[in-house]
Amino acid sequence: MNQHSFQQVGQHSPVAIPTEMRRIEGREWWLWGFTIAVTLTLTLGIISFTIPWLNRETDASYWFDLREWVRGLAALVLLFDFYSVYQHLQLHRIRRQLAERDQLFQLISENAADMIALVDSDGRRLYNSPAYERVLGYSPEELKSTSSIEQIHPDDRPRVLQAAEKARLSGQGERVEYRIRHKDGSWRTLESTACAIRNAAGQTDKLVIVNRDITERKRAEEMLAHNAFHDGLTNLPNRALFLDRLQHALTLSRRHANYKFAVLLFDVDEFKIINDSLGHTAGDALLIQIGQRLKESVRRADMVSRPRMDDVPGRLTNDDTLARLGGDEFAILLDDIRDPIDAVRVAERVQVELAIPFTVNQQEIVVSASIGIASSTSPHTQAEDLVRDADIAMYRAKRAGKARCEVSDAAMHANAVKRLKLETDLRRALDQGEFRVHYQPIVSLQTGKITGFEALTRWQRPEGIVSPIEFIAVAEEIGLIIPMNRQLLREACEHLRIWQSEFPSSPPLTLSVNITPREFAQPDLATEIRKSLEQTGVDPGCLQLEIIETIAMGDAEKSGHVLSQLKALGAHLSIDDFGTGYSSLSRLSRIPVDTLKIDRAFISRMDSDPESREIVRVIIMLAHNLGLKVVAEGTETEEQIKLLKELDCEMAQGYFFSRPADDQAMTKLLASNHFARAASVGR
Ligand code: C2E
Ligand code: MG
Ligand code: MG
Repeated sequence: MNQHSFQQVGQHSPVAIPTEMRRIEGREWWLWGFTIAVTLTLTLGIISFTIPWLNRETDASYWFDLREWVRGLAALVLLFDFYSVYQHLQLHRIRRQLAERDQLFQLISENAADMIALVDSDGRRLYNSPAYERVLGYSPEELKSTSSIEQIHPDDRPRVLQAAEKARLSGQGERVEYRIRHKDGSWRTLESTACAIRNAAGQTDKLVIVNRDITERKRAEEMLAHNAFHDGLTNLPNRALFLDRLQHALTLSRRHANYKFAVLLFDVDEFKIINDSLGHTAGDALLIQIGQRLKESVRRADMVSRPRMDDVPGRLTNDDTLARLGGDEFAILLDDIRDPIDAVRVAERVQVELAIPFTVNQQEIVVSASIGIASSTSPHTQAEDLVRDADIAMYRAKRAGKARCEVSDAAMHANAVKRLKLETDLRRALDQGEFRVHYQPIVSLQTGKITGFEALTRWQRPEGIVSPIEFIAVAEEIGLIIPMNRQLLREACEHLRIWQSEFPSSPPLTLSVNITPREFAQPDLATEIRKSLEQTGVDPGCLQLEIIETIAMGDAEKSGHVLSQLKALGAHLSIDDFGTGYSSLSRLSRIPVDTLKIDRAFISRMDSDPESREIVRVIIMLAHNLGLKVVAEGTETEEQIKLLKELDCEMAQGYFFSRPADDQAMTKLLASNHFARAASVGR
């Protein structure tokens, strides 16, 4: 018997003693007892009958009766003997059968491909069949010294324990699938059933577990599932999977208004000609390369031109999906875009990258694709409808002369055109110096004197001045804000120098400039600002950098680092539009700011709405507690000025004093000391 034998593991046979055997054993004991009793009685009887002094009055009939009795008893004993022999043979037969079963079980378990284990009620391994070593690589010694539960994948453990518990209670466990670690560290998938062995008292004291290695079957199933949803040639998702993901995106976009996506449908121009002239094998090789190129360019376009929003719960985890819909048709699901124009930009980028020649069979091939775009702005609710729209747009692109891109709906088209024009116009405006700096005075409420100016950009177009509301966000998105604001800072600093020398004051006049999130994320922001200050000779202490609340108080670690860099310059920091973000106020005490600018929304409602007045009061109180100064933005009426003065607000800015205007207008204002009236309000 080899080392896996049952005897070696424990004294118990793994097969329970059947009830028949137990019954016969019980009966055997009873027979033995009865036989002994009969024999004893018989012996005593014979002795008593045959001892002469006990039988003094014997006559012939006595001996006759005695003979009859002895004959009867002998017959009885014979009968018992027969019966005992019969029972003994029965028992022998059952023992032989049991031994055969034992041998059979051993033979099966030793040679079975399935892994058979016997564990006690504490989960300790009493026996493991040799298949364990074949399947999992552990030797019997290693198995004995390790815990079966620890080798099970942590995610699957609760299920396995539950099934074992069920087997313990009901006698038969359910079939479970779980992963177990192979000695080489890989995971194998097992399918397992457990059944209980009960003791004489009916309690479960052991479990027999039969495990089958189904790793290969699982792998095959996964492969089949993969094949069902992937294209065999390029290994990209196929139409079915694409439609499924698209449907998911559609559902998501109906639930979240700020979640947008687009579908780009590509059709390789003149693919049929390539296929016919070079042969199908070359055609296939080309399609594989196109698939790879598309994958690469989507990934790159993604990093370059599509900053992500992360606030949509349930969004697709795999982001963009590139699929081959069939033949020479590919599709991209651009997930979570900010504006449909992003899709046009990705399409253009893909066109550029596809134009780089491919090499198939040492032959250079140049291809182009016609692209149709549909986006989540369409009213469709079915994925197929959206793909059809993209398809129609794609055919329009083909008709218009190949290597083109068309968008499906009119509004999106008009938007895309307008947006692209704005981007080109902005770039040109920067080159041609169409941006002007306007200034808005910030006034001390106590003295009525101008303490400084906020510099605000204006776009001087032939048709009139354009407000920054219309272009700052776009300039920010395309990164143009950085050169724009660099220019603004230089110009404003130069004007400040002039005002400071013409209108000396103590403290000197200040300059406030706005820092956008994009600038804030620029690693060389502090260096650039220092350069401008040095070149124009402005004291850093006269510069106020305005940062909106959500950026200044956003990611504590990142923003803290940038803010302290700016602080180290010697510049002052203001939180702009305070009250509109959702930042934690406790953070305010931990960032190095000097001033809070209360958002215009609260100031404008102050005279009519007690709640806004209360908010302003609380903000001012909070700021003062933290040692910060307060500027009220957007003050337009005398009443607001009066209330702000009552609340001890230091400074105000707004149309009440002056609209933003050019430097000459500001020079005039400084000269006239126009705001003496403000100082007397409320006195
Ligand atoms: P902001 O920094 O909060 O600037 C104040 C805005 O409030 C300015 O709008 C100003 O004209 C307006 N305003 C001032 N007083 C009043 C008032 O009494 N009533 C009303 N209704 N409005 C008033 P503007 O110039 O249109 O600028 C809007 C936003 O654009 C600015 O908000 C700022 O965030 C941004 N911005 C403007 N110029 C620049 C710039 O050169 N660089 C950067 N990064 N951002 C700028
Ligand atoms: Mg501002
Ligand atoms: Mg503001």
